[in-house]
Amino acid sequence: MLITGFQKSTLLDYPGKVACLIFTYGCNLRCEYCHNPELVIHPCKRSSIVKEEQILSFLKERKNLLDAVVITGGEPTIQPDLIPFIQKIKDTGYLVKLDTNGTNSKIVKKLLTLNIVDYWAMDIKYEKELYIQNLKEEIKYKEIIKSIKLIMERALDYEFRTTYVKGIHSIESARGIGELINGSKRYYIQNFRPGKTINPSLNFSNSFTEKELGRIKRVMKEYVKDVQIR
Ligand code: SF4
Repeated sequence: MLITGFQKSTLLDYPGKVACLIFTYGCNLRCEYCHNPELVIHPCKRSSIVKEEQILSFLKERKNLLDAVVITGGEPTIQPDLIPFIQKIKDTGYLVKLDTNGTNSKIVKKLLTLNIVDYWAMDIKYEKELYIQNLKEEIKYKEIIKSIKLIMERALDYEFRTTYVKGIHSIESARGIGELINGSKRYYIQNFRPGKTINPSLNFSNSFTEKELGRIKRVMKEYVKDVQIR
């Protein structure tokens, strides 16, 4: 595992649980609005690498203080040893949440078959047309669809979520996104917040207003049972 970030505790990243947060290095996408350019476009700094053993021994020590481990990135499913790593965490008795962009349905399927992820959070980046426009050639749109279906049918618990960026998404994007995840149980609308992003020209004008987010929510409620603005 190439891990370049580790946060010892968070109350925000696993619903209702105290968790620690692991950031894996590298991603197969380049979302303009990505808030983690250091994990995606900047070279990997040797000095920031956190060894797997360090994390596992931390988890053994904190057994009574933490409930869960959140693995995020970057894109964790591009790590070749993700599955054995999650298995080791599960062996220590923790819940595991995995954040993914859903581009690697084979890994999603293997993890679901092994039943070692307790909570899935998959980004739904765009509606179909924008996915096709924005995905690199080597990443197939059908991977996204397969991951959505697998998670909806087989995950123990899950959420889908979209970061809405004005200029990239429109309110109508919600309808296309709703169609992709129609019948799912939980969806979070995340407003774009300016900050360090892969495309530094994104700014406050790329955030939606509360009123606009409310309209997005109303559209998504036609497709998903539980819709929240985060
Ligand atoms: S937002 Fe997520 S999927 Fe997109 S480039 Fe950043 S880490 Fe990768």
